[in-house]
Amino acid sequence: MTTTDYMELAIPGVRGLQAYQPGKPLAELEREYGIRDAVKLASNENPLGPGEHAVAAARGALADLSRYPEGSGYLLAGKLAGKHAVSPTAITLGNGSNDVLDMIARVFLGPGVEAVYSQHAFAVYPIIVQATGATARVAPAADGSNGPAYGHDLAAMSARVGPQTRLVFIANPNNPTGTWLTEAELRAFVESLPDQVMVVVDEAYFEYVDAAEYPDSSRWLADCPNLIVTRTFSKAYGLAGLRVGYAVSHSEVAGLLNRVRHPFNVNTVGQAAALAALEDSSHLEETRRVNRTGMAQLVSGFERLGLSYIESAGNFIAVDAGRPAAAVYEGLLRNGVIVRPVANYEMPNHLRVTVGLPAENERLLVSLEKVLV
Ligand SMILES: *Cc1c(COP(=O)(O)O)cnc(C)c1O
Repeated sequence: MTTTDYMELAIPGVRGLQAYQPGKPLAELEREYGIRDAVKLASNENPLGPGEHAVAAARGALADLSRYPEGSGYLLAGKLAGKHAVSPTAITLGNGSNDVLDMIARVFLGPGVEAVYSQHAFAVYPIIVQATGATARVAPAADGSNGPAYGHDLAAMSARVGPQTRLVFIANPNNPTGTWLTEAELRAFVESLPDQVMVVVDEAYFEYVDAAEYPDSSRWLADCPNLIVTRTFSKAYGLAGLRVGYAVSHSEVAGLLNRVRHPFNVNTVGQAAALAALEDSSHLEETRRVNRTGMAQLVSGFERLGLSYIESAGNFIAVDAGRPAAAVYEGLLRNGVIVRPVANYEMPNHLRVTVGLPAENERLLVSLEKVLV
C-alpha cells in the first residue's frame, strides 16, 4: 500500500492536464463490439497506406537495427533542406511533428511567460504549453463575420499577444476544423508580431491543400526570422506509425531546439522510409487524388442528409450532427465505423471524419443515415 500523494508531487502545469485522447483503434472496436471489418476514419491517416517505395526502404533498414540511428538524420535533413531551399542546419527532425512542437515549447516557454493559440486549435498545443508551466491565452475562434466560422481569428489572436508572449501557434489548416488562412492574411499577421514572439505555423496537412492562395510559409523564412514551420510524414505520406516530423526555422532556432532534442529521436526505419517517401511523387499524387474525390463524396453525402459541415482543406472534415454528437459517435461504433468526437475541442455537436477510400466513405454515410433517424 502506498500513502504517497503523487498528484502533490507533480508540477502545477501537469496537475491540470488531461492526457491526449487518441482515436479508438480498430482492434479495440472489433474486440469490444464483436464486429469484423470495421472502418476507421478517426485519425486522419492515409487510407492508401504508405507508398511501396517507403515500405521497401523501411524493410531495407531492418538489417541495421542493432546500430543507433543516424543521430543528425544527415540524409533526411539534407533532402528536406533541398526541398525547402534552406541550409540543413535549419531542419530539426522530430519523432513526429508533435515531438518538434514539444521541443519548441520547452525551449521558449516556462512559468511567467505566455503562448497564444485559437479556440478549437489542435489539442497538442494546450498540452505542451501547460506542461511547461506557461500560461495559455486562447483567442476565441472566428464566428463567420470575421473569417470562416470555427477558424482562427487573427485579430483576436493579435489582441492576446503581450509583453510576456513568447509563442503563437497557428495550424494551417487547423485540425479538427479544417479551416485555413491565405498567404496575404497569414503573412501580414506573422510580420506584425513583436520581435520577442516566435510563431509556429503547423502545416501537418500541407500536401493536401488545393485552396487558392494557400501559402508555403517555409518560403518566408529569410524575411521572417521568428517563424518556425512544422511538417510531418504522418498524414499525406502515410507514415504515421513510424513517427517522423520536422521543423524548418532559422538555423539559430534549430540550434536551440537541438539542445533539448532527445538523442536519436528519429529511428532508423523512419528515416529511411521518409527519405524514400519524399522521392515518391506518384504515391503523393494518388493520395491527393483519392482525397479530392473522397472529400467531394463526403460533402455531397452530408448535403443529402441535410447536415452542415465546416469546409476543410485537409483530409478530414468536421460535420455537425445537429445534436450532441456523443450518441451519434456511439451509434456509428455499433455500425463498425470509428470517427472522432470533438467535444474536447468545444465542438460537442461535431464529429471529425477522415476522408477514406470510396467504400469506407460510403459505409460512413450509410451508417450515419441509419444512426440519425
Ligand atoms: C496530425 C497532426 C500533427 C502531426 O502529428 P505527428 O506527431 O507528426 O504524427 C501535427 N499537427 C496537427 C494539426 C495535426 O493534426
